[in-house]
Amino acid sequence: MNSVISCNICSSPDREVYCRKDSIDVFRCRQCGLIYAGETQSSKNIEKHYSKEYFENYLKTESIHLKNRFGKRLREIKKIKFPGALLDVGCGIGSFLKLARTEGYEVSGVELSYYAAEHAWNNFGLRVFNSELNDAGFTPKTFDIITLWHVLEHVTDPKKFLIEVNRLLKKNGLLVVEVPNIGSIAARISLMNWELMAPKEHLFYFNPHTINRLLKETGFSIIKNQTYFWTTPAMVIKAKADSIKNNGNAILRLIAFFCHVFSPLRFRVLPCFIKGDVITIYASKVKNLLNN
Ligand SMILES: [Zn+2]
Repeated sequence: MNSVISCNICSSPDREVYCRKDSIDVFRCRQCGLIYAGETQSSKNIEKHYSKEYFENYLKTESIHLKNRFGKRLREIKKIKFPGALLDVGCGIGSFLKLARTEGYEVSGVELSYYAAEHAWNNFGLRVFNSELNDAGFTPKTFDIITLWHVLEHVTDPKKFLIEVNRLLKKNGLLVVEVPNIGSIAARISLMNWELMAPKEHLFYFNPHTINRLLKETGFSIIKNQTYFWTTPAMVIKAKADSIKNNGNAILRLIAFFCHVFSPLRFRVLPCFIKGDVITIYASKVKNLLNN
């Protein structure tokens, strides 16, 4: 375990405890509002979490991810940039790349898990590098589009990581970042019981303000933000019920039951007035940070 002593965005050590989970303090920067885990594990330990079993479980639900997540995101990307060379960092077994290739993009991936990278090579014939992003050996300004699906919250230095992404993108290249949204109502109500509060794996917790600031400071201009729902209302109520000592509270259980019954409506009704607990940002590279 390595201690984190200052904020990744503004470098300030001034902070307060936001919550504590899995024996790890999660802090909130008093200067810029970034929320982050106070300790990080070595990348070897993080890699262990993404084992063969993890990806085998993912494969069972791959069709749902393709239809509900990646299909929709790709339609948004196509509206902004098409055709082009697309790099998916943390590409897993290559589901998104496979879809993007079908739609006409020239695709590459980077993936730390050897099992997942091998799956992408053998089953889909994809060009995937089994390495960290900065060890993949890409030349500067290679890509038109770079996608980071649930990657930035895992890396130990998001600012440094985005500077590398900036280096690899062409001028006016498109960056798509998707991360958990700690500014959402679900996260605020659930606190440490929020489904996505997992400080062993999720080291950073962004809200629209902090992610937009970090992107601007690393040479990007925001095109648009979108949120969607990872956590259902039933899960929020259950998390709240769990956080109350007497979690056998009958009224909360009854409310949770009704939320569960009506949860399919969340896709139609809730987005009108509540922001979801995952945020997707589409941003354009407007500035070269490194002289290359
Ligand atoms: Zn800060």
